[in-house]
Amino acid sequence: MSKALAREVDKRRTFGIISHPDAGKTTLTEKLLLYGGAIQMAGSVKSRKAARHATSDWMAMEQERGISVTSSVMKFEYKGHEINLLDTPGHQDFSEDTYRVLTAVDSGLLVIDSAKGVEAQTLKLMDVCRLRNTPIVTFINKLDREGLDPLDVMADIEEHLKIECVPLTWPIGMGQEFKGTWNIYKNELHLFSAVHEGKTQEGLVFNDVNDPRLEEYLGEFAVQLRDELELLEGAGNPFDKERYLNGEQTPVFFGSAINNFGVQEMLDAFVELAPAPKSRPTTTRDVSPYETDFSGVVFKIQANMDKNHRDRIAFMRICSGKFTRGMKVKHHRVGKDFTIANATIFMAQDRTGVDEAYAGDIIGIHNHGTIKIGDTFTTKEELKFVGIPSFSPEHFRRVQLKDPMKRKQLQKGLEQLAEEGAVQLFRPISNSDYILGAVGILQFDVIVHRLKEEYSVNALYEPCMITTARWISSEDEKVLADFKDYYRSDLAVDAEGCLAYLAPNPWKLESAQERYPKVVFSTTREIR
Ligand code: GDP
Repeated sequence: MSKALAREVDKRRTFGIISHPDAGKTTLTEKLLLYGGAIQMAGSVKSRKAARHATSDWMAMEQERGISVTSSVMKFEYKGHEINLLDTPGHQDFSEDTYRVLTAVDSGLLVIDSAKGVEAQTLKLMDVCRLRNTPIVTFINKLDREGLDPLDVMADIEEHLKIECVPLTWPIGMGQEFKGTWNIYKNELHLFSAVHEGKTQEGLVFNDVNDPRLEEYLGEFAVQLRDELELLEGAGNPFDKERYLNGEQTPVFFGSAINNFGVQEMLDAFVELAPAPKSRPTTTRDVSPYETDFSGVVFKIQANMDKNHRDRIAFMRICSGKFTRGMKVKHHRVGKDFTIANATIFMAQDRTGVDEAYAGDIIGIHNHGTIKIGDTFTTKEELKFVGIPSFSPEHFRRVQLKDPMKRKQLQKGLEQLAEEGAVQLFRPISNSDYILGAVGILQFDVIVHRLKEEYSVNALYEPCMITTARWISSEDEKVLADFKDYYRSDLAVDAEGCLAYLAPNPWKLESAQERYPKVVFSTTREIR
């Protein structure tokens, strides 16, 4: 292992933000980028989002609905760390690759609106984090507004997200009466005020919370603070870094993103606590980020980022070694060598060509559809990274063709879009229907639009009586054969030939599970 390589790996932090729409993710991202010096002005993230949308039709469609479902990567530096922030769109209409982005990060930042507590989208995204025990730092936002009691917000997180909360800062008052935060570990008081641009937020240092000077700053709130801290000390658990790294405990920070308050404290702790790139499993062995041979895995494909160039961008997470411009790598699934001449790195300001990159970095590779989600690239050894799953869709539609002569094009289009990961395609084993499954319903509109634009196929949807899907397997072949016989009319194969049970309703799924205890019903499937 080379020392220079180890240094590069150790300073990287690759993370995603998990939140429900409107909790303040965009605002917080913007403040983080300000600290990174990546942007100079507040407001740039939003306008950048808008500019990016205009680049393609279906993104324009999303924009019309006033939402953003395109995830992206922002790289910036902070206090000697190289930070890769992966955007995870939070809207209800998001797609499956929102989930997949979380398989490419080493840790997460959970943003909660203090007036709302845990919301639906957060629950779903945290489920994905739990699959990999992703370490999570929590930021409770909007303390400048009246919200829930901070203890109740933490209890809500503990109950619904099944993760122990340990506050590292504690809010003093809220809304009109928001005084600031107390840093529990540093005995530092941060008085609330809006902190403009990337300016540092200075704290006042005390000997301890019983320091009488506290009254000068906080008045009657000093007593309240002491009482609350005493309560926390009695009831709560101490911070334990190991437990954080195992995804069992989350350090909690309070603040107000829009006022850039509490953000720097959180960011400082974040770069210190959050893990550097970790080893990643392959079908044969674990690959350490410190290995000198290059390896990387594709976790997301984005088509039509630029309408003038019909190419697609494959987002690759580097897992080991050093990437250099023009590097020749092996594309194992297709058994070919591939020169990565025009990789893009996503700096917060811009997309720029990349000369070198290391484990934890995300690079974008232009291609014309030869790269698939889950593809592994290495310079030497044949490897196949695992852990990039397909998620069980929650919405289903039957595809109807307006012009029956176009059946071949429809099939090709659907297969390619499924391969790209834009939607899941199921073919029932008892008829010749095309059933689409998606995690967010917006995907269906995107697919119809793209079928027309890219494959000249006019398609429509019919609703269908399917509420959920499970991938089916069993070690007992006889049981599996019996199951297939019994549920024939509800079975389908997906784009990769895997067997799935399409349940007409949750009760039928339950009864199938009871009837066939030896059959495994999976909500995720590893991409092959
Ligand atoms: P996103 O949907 O999670 O990206 O949320 P945004 O960052 O777009 O914020 C949603 C709304 O909450 C916007 O109107 C923000 O101005 C507002 N907001 C964000 N942070 C704060 C905060 O700290 N305090 C208050 N009062 N509003 C905030």
